[in-house]
Amino acid sequence: MKHFFILMLIALCCLTGCTQQMMQAQVRDSRIVVLDIGHYYHPVRGGQGARTPDNRYGKIEECEYWYRYAGHTARIIEQAGYQCRICCRGSLPTDKELAAIAIREGVHHVNTPEPNAIYRCRQHPHRMAVGMLSTNYALDQKPAAVVYLHHNSMTARWMVYNKGAIYCNEAGGDLALAVAKVITDTIYDDGGMPNHGLPCGVILRNDGRKGGGDWLNACNDSYVPAIITEATFLSNPEHARFLGKEKNAIRYAEAIGHGVVNYLKAR
Ligand SMILES: [Zn+2]
Repeated sequence: MKHFFILMLIALCCLTGCTQQMMQAQVRDSRIVVLDIGHYYHPVRGGQGARTPDNRYGKIEECEYWYRYAGHTARIIEQAGYQCRICCRGSLPTDKELAAIAIREGVHHVNTPEPNAIYRCRQHPHRMAVGMLSTNYALDQKPAAVVYLHHNSMTARWMVYNKGAIYCNEAGGDLALAVAKVITDTIYDDGGMPNHGLPCGVILRNDGRKGGGDWLNACNDSYVPAIITEATFLSNPEHARFLGKEKNAIRYAEAIGHGVVNYLKAR
């Protein structure tokens, strides 16, 4: 009888270890990248992300920005031989131009019933956050990586602030380093966006619901590398002026794609 219990215990440990190894192998073998357009588009109020304090140095709102440019990130990843899926927690924008772009780029709208409410992760029910339904979608794709496309903002007034960073989960450390390196090397300072010599940071976030922490945790529970791009500040006049130019906005979106590709190739 005693032997039976010991055997059962060993079997159980093997099974848990096997499941973990299988999940990790699935992520490693995956060639699918999910790009999540941050926040959502409100039918009356428009994009609901961070924005420039006023129009002096360009008028940018992060959700609308990523509707316009996520396709450029996707193209870089696809040209390297990987697949890309773009999603958003909200619904198809009522703005005709953005809607046309969303349809052209094949954006999958999760249609979160109440985009500002907290939802539970289906795959890992102890993880809860606003915007979690797009993480559910992302994990359903069995991805190699998930990139939450955002910008940051310090204040409701203009202020030079240069501590941009890529937030990541534990599984996403190398992914974050790869993306941060491309931003430091090709976007900041010599790349045209003044950042006063400061490199793009990498910050591990595993602090629960705050600011999308549980999106990263939910991905981590599936061993999926995940990052939130917060390398640029819309309240920084120098960043806003740079991103306000179409060719720079495209270059920035492409830089994130190149960082993701560099990571995938080095796996
Ligand atoms: Zn954001």
